[in-house]
Order: sequence, then structure tokens, then C-alpha cells
Amino acid sequence: MCLLAVKLQKKHYLCSLMAGIYIHIPFCKSRCKYCDFFSTTQLARQEEYVEALLCELDDRRHTLTEEVRTIYMGGGTPSTLPVGALSRIVQRCVALCGMEWGSRVEITLEVNPGDVTEANVRAWRAMGINRLSMGVQSFDDTLLQLIGRRHTAQQAREAVAVAQAAGFDNISIDLMYALPTETMPQWQNDIAEALKLGVQHISSYGLIYEEGTALMALLERGVVAAVDEDVEMQMYDYLVETLTRNGYVHYEVSNFALLGRESKHNSSYWNDTPYLGLGAGAHSYDGEKRQWNVSDLDMYIQQARAHALLPELEWLTEEQRHTERVMLGLRTNRGVAMGDVNMSRVEGYVQQGLLKQEGERLVATTKGFHILNRIIEDLV
Ligand code: SF4
Repeated sequence: MCLLAVKLQKKHYLCSLMAGIYIHIPFCKSRCKYCDFFSTTQLARQEEYVEALLCELDDRRHTLTEEVRTIYMGGGTPSTLPVGALSRIVQRCVALCGMEWGSRVEITLEVNPGDVTEANVRAWRAMGINRLSMGVQSFDDTLLQLIGRRHTAQQAREAVAVAQAAGFDNISIDLMYALPTETMPQWQNDIAEALKLGVQHISSYGLIYEEGTALMALLERGVVAAVDEDVEMQMYDYLVETLTRNGYVHYEVSNFALLGRESKHNSSYWNDTPYLGLGAGAHSYDGEKRQWNVSDLDMYIQQARAHALLPELEWLTEEQRHTERVMLGLRTNRGVAMGDVNMSRVEGYVQQGLLKQEGERLVATTKGFHILNRIIEDLV
């Protein structure tokens, strides 16, 4: 076989694994106090950003095939985009990937409850979006204000109801725990409220005080206090115990879904499957290397519109890929193949109830999730 044929075959192999497209929409109406993501409140720049995004999509369409199974619009807050702009993005993706309308492609939109109106949900469904991921975070208005969210608990309840009434039957909500001043009864109430909504998917993360955020400044000045570590662990245990008892599968350390409603898009990250990331700051992975666009609105728009994007690249060594495989696998209920880890350390963890053996694989227990990073370091 000539070298060219080998290259073509390899390219096809990579493309055929392409799991999905991630589209970063970096616009928010206001900034949350805990946020260190790349986002901006310059909503007046949305139209030119979408133009740039479509240029990038055209330029990188050669990496897309009919194998694309998911489109995920994250941010930022993609629900701040006018429906016309969102529709152009979705239509262009669908056209370039050769997808059919109404196909089984999972198309997710991250939304803020404050943007969920009857008109918006109807428009989102009409353009083919079939999954919503809603940043609810808490059902306690005092806590929501403390972390700088712009919606209220009642808006969140109504947003889910409006989306369900419009036919969305695949809704995920995000919940945060260990918020400043949060008590166990408040967290238990949040989970009870979440269960009442009848959503298909729940993602839940403990608050992290990130450097440079407004919340970190408040912590340093003693205006707010972090929740005690033991209480935070109890909150996580309560979350896992309650959601699994109510029929949600704990399929990733921070993610729970009714059977068959796991996020296909996010699962592809954890399954080491390639993805294409578009937009400012977006990361891509093709099975061999990562690349990411500049995290600067002006530079991204300028580069993308000139068809001259300058992504940074990182080629992964076999060792890095192995570490990531173990790390990502152990975050999920699939675990890792025993052949992939240092078995000399496994027995101790199994005896302590931190890992369990399932057939030929090793899976972390809820107790193990508390110290997952330490376990992973030890096993690779
Ligand atoms: S909505 Fe999300 S991206 Fe925007 S500021 Fe809040 S946490 Fe950050």
C-alpha cells in the first residue's frame, strides 16, 4: 500500500470516529460571581461573532462527515443568541454534515432559565434542537443572588414546564452544591425540587473558588466562607444516594440520567472520542492531538473572518493518552480495563471500598470519587 493510501485511510479512520461538534457561544447578559469561563457581556457583538463562526465552520468542514452524531452549543449562554442567528448555525452544521432533519442527532442548547419563553422554545424546537441543558444551580433565591445568577428559582421551575409543554423530552439541569452559607437542609430541598421537575438528566458540581473571580475576592476578604469539606462530601453522598434511589443512573462522577438519557455529546469526551470545537477558546481533539482557538473575542473574529485562524496545538504522547484514558474512564460507570492500570496498587483500593471489580474492568465507588485524583495518580 502506498504512503498516500495509508494516510487517507488514517484520515478516514479519524473522521469516522468524529463524535460531535462543540460550538462555543461566549455571550452572557451578566457575569456570575464564581465564573472563570471565557465569556463576555458584549451582546452587541453577537452578529459579527456568528459570521466568524460560520467562516470557521466552512474552513474546517473537511473534518466533518455523516458520522457526526451530536451538536452541542455551550458557553457562555447560547440562549442569549437571537433565534435567527442560532438557526443559521444549526442549519449550516446540518447541511455540512449531511444530516437529515428529524434525524437521531442529539442537538443540545445550553440555556439560562431567564431566556426560556414560549416563543423561544418553539423556535428552538423548530430548528431541530432536541435537548436543553439548563443552568438552574439552586432553588434558593438567596443563594442564587449570592453567586450572581440572574434568574430566580421560580423562573427555573417555569422554564422547565414551558420547555416540557413545547415537547422537549430531553432536559438536563445543572445544580451546584457547597455554595457559601449553604446548609444540608437547603441542599436536600434543592434535590427534592429537582426531582419534582421530572427532568431526564441532572449534572451537579461542588462550587470551586477560582482565582480571579468575584467570589474568590469575597472569600479572601472574609465576606463569605467556604462550606466545610466534610459537609461538602456529605452533600455529594446525599446527591448520589437520592438520585440513584429515584431511578437516575450515576454514569459519570457529576452526571445522572434516566436510562438511555445519558448525554451522548459529553459521553464522547469521556470515551476518548474525537470532537470538533468551533468558536473562541473552543478545543478540538482528533484522537492524536488537541487544538484550541484563541480565547479573545476580537482576535477570534478577526482571524476567523480572514480565514486565518491560528489555533494552538498539542500532540499527545502515548503516555498522555494512556493517563487520559484511565482518568476519563474512572470518572464513568464503565471504569477502566484492568490491563490499563498498575495492578499492584489496585487491591488496597478494592479492600478500602474505593474501587470495585466488574468483570475485567475497575470502577470507582462513590467513596472512591471523593479522592479520585489521588487514585488516578497512583494507578497510571
Ligand atoms: S452564565 Fe455561565 S458562562 Fe456566563 S457568567 Fe454565568 S457561569 Fe459564566
